[in-house]
Amino acid sequence: MKKILFTAIALLIVSNANADLKLYVFDCGHLSFADVSNFGITNEETEVRELFVPCYLIDHPDGKMIWDAGLPLDIVGPRQEDATSWYENSIIDQLDAIGVSPQDIGYTAYSHFHYDHVGAANEFSTATLLIQETEYMAAFHDAESNPVFRPPLYSELVNSRKVLLQGDHDVFGDGSVVIISAPGHTPGHQVLKLELENFGPLVLSGDLYHFEISRQLRRTPVFNTDAEETLRSMNRVEVLTQEAGATFWMEHSLELANSLNLAPYYYD
Ligand SMILES: [Zn+2]
Repeated sequence: MKKILFTAIALLIVSNANADLKLYVFDCGHLSFADVSNFGITNEETEVRELFVPCYLIDHPDGKMIWDAGLPLDIVGPRQEDATSWYENSIIDQLDAIGVSPQDIGYTAYSHFHYDHVGAANEFSTATLLIQETEYMAAFHDAESNPVFRPPLYSELVNSRKVLLQGDHDVFGDGSVVIISAPGHTPGHQVLKLELENFGPLVLSGDLYHFEISRQLRRTPVFNTDAEETLRSMNRVEVLTQEAGATFWMEHSLELANSLNLAPYYYD
């Protein structure tokens, strides 16, 4: 009896995984900083001065979704000496290399609308944008109060199809791809929880943290919209990650990126 019960519980726990779900990770640029104090940490607290900028393709049997779209495409090219940002191979070319064109993308969702997350957003204007209503208001109607937003990067989305979210959202209705509301970095910042059959549950952190030390010390960047709200979001996402037994990927971590298999490899 005990064994049957245990099996039933185990089945319940893995039941959200979709056997055909795939996750591709792309290199969508790098950022370097001489001074990291704007992130709410001192230059002595970490030796990290370079951040990775990822893009992701989530390939679900019911549709393809882009999660975060990297640095602006106009900087794509060979890395220049002394550059503080560089991006060598555009997300569009990297998608093309695995046989995916922007028109194949059914959904886009960005952790938030800062310029290093929506750099190629205009290329995906035919997709349905999944965005928190608060982020929509900030990015499309109040960008001048949000200095890290660059409206020209997403001007093509003004008339595109949108689903305005007010909290968490199960994208395909099977629990395998769930947007989790985690405001504070921006008004409608969100993270993504995936249930991959072989890899297991995975949380893509957006910009909940930029540095490992920020997570350890619970520090918030000075440019966050709301520090208190960020701390509440950190708590919520940490609890949810722990309860799901999920792997946590800090999106901007170069150390993490160097340990991952980038596209054309995929996680499933
Ligand atoms: Zn960022």
